[in-house]
Amino acid sequence: MIYLDYSATTPVDKLVLEDYIDFSRSNFANSNSLHKLGKEALIDLTNTTKNIKEKLNLLTHELIYTSGATEANNLALKGVAYKNRSKGNHIITSPFEHSSITTTLNYLAKQGFIIDVLDFDDYGRIDLEELDSLITDETILVSIGIVNSEVGLSQDLNAIRSVLNNYPNVLLHSDMTQAIGKIELDFSLADLISFSAHKLYGFKGIGGLFVRKGIKLTPIIHGGKSVSQYRGGTPPTNLIHSLGKTIEVALTDFEKKLNKIKELNLYLVSQLQRIDNIVVNSSQYSIDQIVNFSYLPLASNKLQKYLSDKNIYVSTTTACSSDKSISKVVKEITGSYEQATTSIRVSLSHLTTKDEIDLLTFALRGLNSENS
Ligand code: PMP
Repeated sequence: MIYLDYSATTPVDKLVLEDYIDFSRSNFANSNSLHKLGKEALIDLTNTTKNIKEKLNLLTHELIYTSGATEANNLALKGVAYKNRSKGNHIITSPFEHSSITTTLNYLAKQGFIIDVLDFDDYGRIDLEELDSLITDETILVSIGIVNSEVGLSQDLNAIRSVLNNYPNVLLHSDMTQAIGKIELDFSLADLISFSAHKLYGFKGIGGLFVRKGIKLTPIIHGGKSVSQYRGGTPPTNLIHSLGKTIEVALTDFEKKLNKIKELNLYLVSQLQRIDNIVVNSSQYSIDQIVNFSYLPLASNKLQKYLSDKNIYVSTTTACSSDKSISKVVKEITGSYEQATTSIRVSLSHLTTKDEIDLLTFALRGLNSENS
């Protein structure tokens, strides 16, 4: 099997898995229970939270655990929108957001919120002057994902923050699901930050929303006493514990892993550029982990199947988009319908080998000879 779909999800790291099993065996208590085992579970949870914040340099923020980034995005957008309804109803976003942002914003639009989608340059970088000009007294939130999951396009968080520094009442949310553990960045520049463990060699079903201290949200899940006033229910202590280990492992030898991925990226792109009929859709603003390309003679789903039949696993659009026949992001950025309907996402990891890339490019070259 050649797995090249690490942006859809990652295998659980061995250390994370072992730690999860050990913890689940030694402490299964409800952290809300008042007996000794319950208190120990609560202490572990508190320490885990502190360690995660320290590792990500986010001591300025509270961490609300969620089931993943979809829930974190829902809580961020609905939580801010409902809490600030009396202050304003205007939200600004980018055209390159994950479906969990766009569908939530569409839902809010039906409830009377006004959503503006920013324009962008030839590379897909959002128009910062337009961002500045769109902000009014009614604007309560700007939500811009720093790394898009389909082409890996990254936005300039520092520049976005600089614009928003002139508007202290406007909150900045960023979906960092494809950024945390993948790029070096001062995440604390955003007021609200969504992320998910399963993109980082952790478990599916756990993630979080960092919220700058002092910011209030309207909860979207109501319930009994829990870790956070924003999310009722018994805390998944073993998943939370494993999230701590996930972040720790992901950031170990971080530079080394990034350097390896950079090398693999350069190698893959140079190989793809030598194959007839292939256009690379990622640009210099894409993160090294994601290479999006189009093999023009074949629709994305057909190429995906051809590769899958050879046990090479890649994505067409994102695993989460409903219409997989066209990449809206590739269409927006390249303007080409042909590229958008033939686009393939390869996502790399420090676990990827050069041999795997060679087998992928060998299979792609094979297509040209089959078609000639
Ligand atoms: N945002 C982005 C940018 C993503 O790539 C994903 C996962 N595809 C999500 C949000 C949703 O994450 P989760 O699966 O944890 O709900």
